[in-house]
Amino acid sequence: MRPSHLVPPILLIDDRSVDLDLVSLVLLGAFGVAPAERVTDAAMFARHLGTRSFGLVLCEIDVPWCDGLEMLSSIHELQPEAAVVVVTRRPLAEAAPTVLEAGADGLVTKDAAGLAHLPHTVRHALVTANRRNRGPSAAERGIVDRLPVGVFRATTDGVILDANPAFARLIGVSQPSDVVHRPVADLIAGPGGRDRWSDAVARGGAAEAFETDLARPDGGRVRVRIRTWSVPGRDGRATVDGLVEDVADLAAARAAATARSTEIERARIDLEQMAFVVSHDLQQPLTVVARNLEMLEDVTRDVLESDARESLEHARRGAESLQRMLDAMRRYARLDTRAAAPEPVDLGTVVDRVVDMLDEEMTAADAEIRRDPLPVVDADEAQMEQLLQNLLANALKYRSERPPRISISCSDEGERWRIGIQDNGIGIDPAEADRIFRMFQRLHSEDEVPGTGIGLAVCKRIVERHGGRIGVEPAPEGGSVFWMTLPKGPTVVRSGRSDG
Ligand code: ADP
Repeated sequence: MRPSHLVPPILLIDDRSVDLDLVSLVLLGAFGVAPAERVTDAAMFARHLGTRSFGLVLCEIDVPWCDGLEMLSSIHELQPEAAVVVVTRRPLAEAAPTVLEAGADGLVTKDAAGLAHLPHTVRHALVTANRRNRGPSAAERGIVDRLPVGVFRATTDGVILDANPAFARLIGVSQPSDVVHRPVADLIAGPGGRDRWSDAVARGGAAEAFETDLARPDGGRVRVRIRTWSVPGRDGRATVDGLVEDVADLAAARAAATARSTEIERARIDLEQMAFVVSHDLQQPLTVVARNLEMLEDVTRDVLESDARESLEHARRGAESLQRMLDAMRRYARLDTRAAAPEPVDLGTVVDRVVDMLDEEMTAADAEIRRDPLPVVDADEAQMEQLLQNLLANALKYRSERPPRISISCSDEGERWRIGIQDNGIGIDPAEADRIFRMFQRLHSEDEVPGTGIGLAVCKRIVERHGGRIGVEPAPEGGSVFWMTLPKGPTVVRSGRSDG
């Protein structure tokens, strides 16, 4: 280890010049450098340690001007990054426990054996100090520097050791180094915030988030939210790390999120009102058209050519389909206005009722339903019935050539239930999985399968009103699984039954 640039500035402390010469010689021989400074009395000790920074300090602890342990603690305080090696005239066994306990990075005796060991001990001490001083990696540093929130690290006395650019911006200085070495308390404007900070420091650094003003050099103030915590150091010396957020930024982000959700809610209400108004206003003319078409069919049954009769028949079927759409729109519009207060609803009983209602279609299609025990949830019972009816009716309606096999599963997800309704029907292209939950969106024409395209929009609205989510996935063996989550109410699980 000859290259001299590997050894940082060295300080030698000893009251005897002859010992200093000896140690210097060893260092020169081993590393090709002589110590930069020598200290032989109290005044030099104070001057050198307080004004310059050293990477390596070699010291005798038995000096007349101060106690050895006090000296070590002053060196740590004033040269926190230096590697400290004690070179002592005391016997090793006597010196070792206290010296190493006091935080020295190495210890050798001043006899021939000890000095022969000195180069190795110095190298070892430099590596230890380097590890201790090494801050975050370049990648970690890059992340901290790019964070939009202020981050600082302080000593347990509250003096800033490091900060990121966002912290400098908040405090109104051009670079982080402008705040390093300053007490955090000096930056806090207002006694309340300073007290909270002092409490945090007194407790070792941990503080619940608190709001305070920070004083900027231009006389301005910035309202911030500070959160701090203690970080144990590798050498046992802890630091206090802190996050500082601009309250105005937080408030602006919160306001933007609230405005957005209000906008979405308003759009939803507009849509519902439109659905209600359209369905209401169209009802009257549609009733007139349907009634007249029926009359016309009755009156002209025996006189019209078959082509003309067919046209009339088409017109009547069109009017019926329009009527179904208006009914569905009205049902959708009433989901909020006619909602009942939530009460415990046994989903098993609701499924029983729905299965009874669909009995005729199920028998005709040779369908079977298997189901897990279903829970009791806090809900609007009529809406739960509508939800399950829409999903089970679709499972029968969109069947493949196989007899429908429907399976209702329920799993416990901690805070909520997840209910799945799986069919073995024609399946749904995953690319359409979102679209089908929107109003009037269908994957089939009226001629292929009659429908309004409102059923799943109703399901989505019901589930969301109850604080849950709904979606669809392909079933493993063909068909679809419509799943939904519902927050737990009183959780009584009812045993299931099989219907076929
Ligand atoms: P509708 O059945 O009146 O068309 P829905 O909103 O209930 O309206 O369904 C929207 C579309 O989603 C349907 O047109 C159909 O294409 C598709 N769909 C719904 N349920 C199923 C299902 N179980 N299997 C396959 N496709 C389905």
